[in-house]
Amino acid sequence: MSDITPAQNEEEILKFWDENKIFEKTLEKTKDKTPYVFYDGPPFATGLPHYGHILGSAAKDVVGRYWTMKGYYVRRRWGWDCHGLPIEQLVEQKLGISGKKQIETIGVDKFNDTCRENVLTYVGEWGKMVRRMGRFVDFENSYKTMDSTYMESVWWALKQIWEKGLIYEGRKVLMYCSRCETPVSNFEVASDNSYDDVAEESVYIKAKIIGGDGRRTFFDTPTLSSPEGEKKVSTPAGPPTYLLAWTTTPWTLPGNLAMAVGKDIDYALVKDGDAQYILAKNRVEILFNNPAILKEFKGSELVGLQYEKLFDIPQMQSEASFKVYAANFVTTEDGTGIVHTAVMYGEEDYNLGLEVGLPTVQLLNAQGHFNDLIPEFIRGMFYKKAEKFIVQQLIEQQKLFKTEVYTHSVPFCWRCGTRLYYSALPSWFINIQKIKPRLLELNENINWYPDHLKHGRFQKGVESAPDWNISRNRYWATALPFWKCTNKTCGRAVCIGSLEELQQKASNYDQVYKSKNIREIDLHRPYVDQIKLECAVCANEMLRVPEVVDCWVESASMPFAEYHYPFENKEEVQKRVPAQFVAEYINQTRTWFYVMHVINTILWDKAAFENVVNTGVVLAEDGQKMSKSKKNFPDPWLVIDKYGVDALRYYLLSSPVMQAENLYFNEREVDEIYKKVILLLNNVHSFFRMYSSEKILDDWKPEPTNVLDRWIVTLLHQLQTETTKNMDAYDTVRASRPILKFINDLSTWYVRRSRDRFKAGDQDAKNSLKVLGYVLIELSKVMAPFMPFISEKIYKDLTGKESVHLSDWNKDGYTPMSDIELALIKQMDALRDIVELGLSARTEAKMKVRQPLGYLAYKFKNAAEPLGSELEKILAEELNVKEVSAAPDIAVMPDTVLRENSELQVLLSTKISPELKAEGNARELERQVQDLRKKHGLNVGDLIDLYYNTTDPTLEGALIEKFDRKKTGVVQVKKEIEVEPDAEAQVKIDDKAIWLGITKV
Ligand SMILES: [Zn+2]
Ligand SMILES: [Zn+2]
Repeated sequence: MSDITPAQNEEEILKFWDENKIFEKTLEKTKDKTPYVFYDGPPFATGLPHYGHILGSAAKDVVGRYWTMKGYYVRRRWGWDCHGLPIEQLVEQKLGISGKKQIETIGVDKFNDTCRENVLTYVGEWGKMVRRMGRFVDFENSYKTMDSTYMESVWWALKQIWEKGLIYEGRKVLMYCSRCETPVSNFEVASDNSYDDVAEESVYIKAKIIGGDGRRTFFDTPTLSSPEGEKKVSTPAGPPTYLLAWTTTPWTLPGNLAMAVGKDIDYALVKDGDAQYILAKNRVEILFNNPAILKEFKGSELVGLQYEKLFDIPQMQSEASFKVYAANFVTTEDGTGIVHTAVMYGEEDYNLGLEVGLPTVQLLNAQGHFNDLIPEFIRGMFYKKAEKFIVQQLIEQQKLFKTEVYTHSVPFCWRCGTRLYYSALPSWFINIQKIKPRLLELNENINWYPDHLKHGRFQKGVESAPDWNISRNRYWATALPFWKCTNKTCGRAVCIGSLEELQQKASNYDQVYKSKNIREIDLHRPYVDQIKLECAVCANEMLRVPEVVDCWVESASMPFAEYHYPFENKEEVQKRVPAQFVAEYINQTRTWFYVMHVINTILWDKAAFENVVNTGVVLAEDGQKMSKSKKNFPDPWLVIDKYGVDALRYYLLSSPVMQAENLYFNEREVDEIYKKVILLLNNVHSFFRMYSSEKILDDWKPEPTNVLDRWIVTLLHQLQTETTKNMDAYDTVRASRPILKFINDLSTWYVRRSRDRFKAGDQDAKNSLKVLGYVLIELSKVMAPFMPFISEKIYKDLTGKESVHLSDWNKDGYTPMSDIELALIKQMDALRDIVELGLSARTEAKMKVRQPLGYLAYKFKNAAEPLGSELEKILAEELNVKEVSAAPDIAVMPDTVLRENSELQVLLSTKISPELKAEGNARELERQVQDLRKKHGLNVGDLIDLYYNTTDPTLEGALIEKFDRKKTGVVQVKKEIEVEPDAEAQVKIDDKAIWLGITKV
């Protein structure tokens, strides 16, 4: 073994792959074969690659390599997601600006140019990692979502969707980031669990009732005895009566327009001091001490009551405002059973507002500050900061009942961490409700790994999906290709689906783009914003809507947009729908997997992919998120340098993280795999090369006769079938785990038990070595998709051929195991069980393995066939007994030890005759001589003379008669002390002293 580190070995192979274009050759070899279609989700290049990406690379690469070896054409082209908030935010920082106002001050052109210049900042780092991971992918020739061709295809797709009547403009309550000044998709927030529990002040407000609709007013103070207030005593000057309402978002109170109650919920009128309160009956005990309930009634009786408005904002005045309405979202689990309703800041509020005709008045500006409609004391103030002033005002005006700290889960911007709020915003939508049944139907055609996601997380996500808000109020993305008539009474909108259509329909194309070739024009803002069309209905000017597209529309368009479909590559793209395979981490069920499914369903009426592998999340060993500041995980580059990529890949691919479970990254486990797989296999390979320098044909197949050879070839076949079966089922865990076991069996059983045969140098040795060579070649093929480096090294060395990655997946993997094969495996397993019991019997009898024993008898409890002489011979050697036999019955006798498990019984004779004793002593003496040889640094083949001195005749007898001179390279044995040997030792064997000395001859 050389001192080359695993990383150096791998670097050399990388160089070889690059210089000899091995990836390109695999494509060349398969280019006319059936395509196996893989869609690769484009990452953002605005961050550095981390363990998640390393996992992704391993998961994608293993499948691509496997299907290539199976003879399919697996095109793999890298892509970059270039648009959207990640890069915009980075550029804002770089330019030292924040917010849309400042972007527009410096100019959208300059801002977008800076985005373009910086979006590929880390491409070099990515390239380094992707290459080092052994990923076969066309990285240099990557597509980018900011390419004009790509953007044009996105326009084409939007137009298809538009023409199907699935795009509409609406106002919807969305989560909104006031820093990024754009709505955030709920699937984006949901996918990254961007919710946090926050404890803050909730408020109970008193809304004074000032009128009713004539049925009953709560100015009345009925006596408790009068049923349902039949005999009302009208006391107009009676105590004031309040609706008691509750909210966790005090900043929305200036927007209050109504109170909602449940019409079947029981409410109560409570007297407290000089005032009366109305609230849900089952909340009374919680909010009042010793309450006096004056009256009980259903919520329906409250509907229509009018209350005094909380704030004076003229724009909010209307016939419908400041009244009580029934709504089915009201509960009494917390609060008061009366829900404060601010139409613009909650989905349910908004829907209720639309239903009963409440005004829709936005009180916040785009940055989340209160606008000019608001009373002066909080005008211009950030909404969250205004809360304490709002509470203060309520106190002063005696509209506050009390405040209470309340913990609830609130969303944060997944990009910038700013707390989000709900707001009704004008936006463009894809109508998901209309296509939902089809989305669900087509999901039935997808194989999900793990499969519980199919009808679990994914289906549930589709079922509850709202319409998809595809517009963003931002700058650096594909501009939405929608133009709207400026004549408000016309308001016609059109969608443009290509550059050519834009040129044809624009009224000022040349003015904006000058004489630029149509293929070179920039579809980004601000250029495309300047294009005007003429309305076909009213002949007024049409302007582009200001929004850009949600970048998830872009990444979902990857299957055709990277090809500039349908403007180019028409046939090829149509053949590539759906993909056979995609793999990303599990949160993409809500994002990329979902949006791909939506776009593909609309465009092609097909699912986007047939097989989808969901990986879990790589966490730090302590179960926390990997965090650079906490330094709770090892630098991936150090791990790679220390153990090599093969070990890291195998660690990931054989772990449950491939079945969407979390992985707590543990460096010790990578180390263990390095030792148990890479080192052990390297040792077997070196061992083979010690005895054979032959090249072996890749397509040669042995017909072994020796039982050990037959066994290892059978075991190899089993490995091939298991790996094939499980790779076909996208189960890399079950496909890869048997590799470790196989290498262990190969090294610790086959090679160890065959060592003496190899050494013999006869025809049997040659045959067996060829078998070992064959096994190593086939093993390297099985391992190639998982551990592409070590398999390449071994394959090249043994076959002399160019690359294992150009070899074919062995068809033996497709053929089932024969009964004979299964029986042989079973027998060898049984044999090894007997060995285990036999060794344990030796331990109990305190017999070293070197001491030969008389016999061992075994019995299978299920009356299985005996092992036969060939296997029994192996058993005898392994256990160092003179005779092995299958016995119909095992009877314990003197000087025997019995051992058994559920399947078999083993009886070991522990009686040592003088003959056996002498042999045992000879073996001990041999070991001592080998130690001396080693101490003196002798090589295999160096010959020695052996000197000894002892007064014990039995040791002397053992040395003369039983000692194996050939094994120890001894020429002469002499009883002599008057020599100065090269090395000497005074030892005790069997409690008797002997002096030994050796001299090289
Ligand atoms: Zn944000
Ligand atoms: Zn018009």
